[in-house]
Amino acid sequence: MIISGSIKETRNQVKEWKKQGLSVGLVPTMGYLHEGHKSLIERARKENDKVCVSIFVNPMQFGPNEDLDSYPRDLERDSKICEEAGVDLIFHPEVEEMYGPNFCGFVDMHTLPEKLCGASRPVHFRGVQTVVSKLFHIMPADRAYFGQKDAQQLAIIRRMVIDLDFDIEIIGCPIIREEDGLAKSSRNTYLSAEERAQAVILNQSLEEAMKAIEAGEKDAAKIKSIITDKLNTCPLAKIDYVEVVSFDTIQPIEKVEGAVLIAIAVYIGSTRLIDNRILM
Ligand code: AMP
Repeated sequence: MIISGSIKETRNQVKEWKKQGLSVGLVPTMGYLHEGHKSLIERARKENDKVCVSIFVNPMQFGPNEDLDSYPRDLERDSKICEEAGVDLIFHPEVEEMYGPNFCGFVDMHTLPEKLCGASRPVHFRGVQTVVSKLFHIMPADRAYFGQKDAQQLAIIRRMVIDLDFDIEIIGCPIIREEDGLAKSSRNTYLSAEERAQAVILNQSLEEAMKAIEAGEKDAAKIKSIITDKLNTCPLAKIDYVEVVSFDTIQPIEKVEGAVLIAIAVYIGSTRLIDNRILM
């Protein structure tokens, strides 16, 4: 397994594989890998001759008061996980390699990034689109793998690839959860034992919404209030947002029909967690 922090070296390696007629899958991550990341890597492993994983805590997608400095990092552990999963190349650049002197370019779009996480994290998706565009140029893969855990991100990247004609297939992969239903996340490490126990409320509230939908409920406002009421039973939970939107446009809808994203962001103590359900 190659571990490289160099854009030039990484690009040359991927180009060489492409020249040999090999297919390449890319899994972009911020590291501190868990089963969620592993599921993307495994899928990429199955569908491609070569698998690249990027590990980069991207400063551009963090707001001024967010957790950039405290975000967990452990390259040694991540490398072991990647090696065992059959990864061929880890791209692990320093910030200076990605954002050189006088850097001032960025990629952005209207509407899709404005609601949900974009409303509470105004610079976040601009940073995501910029770094993902750079990664797609550095590693011109055939396929890139993203988790549905970050559903708005997945919708934005899909749109970006269409709108800006990137020659890459975007594969969305299901959310991997802990046994009690909490979606796996590198940020779960911030939770105290008490917070961790209460964090299951996110998945439980979405389960209640799904039960109502299965029983025939179509009114988005009702579904939102089912989720909100459940979340409000948890003393440590503070709601950032509960939204029912079109998965294609990320705009609010009144009736649950077509491709629908039910998305929530909730502070458990000071840790902000997200979860969702996608109905197709
Ligand atoms: P991150 O390192 O948090 O930026 O995540 C890298 C990729 O892993 C993103 O595409 C995430 O959506 C995906 N991911 C993170 N957590 C999970 C999970 N629990 N299940 C599936 N995919 C995940």
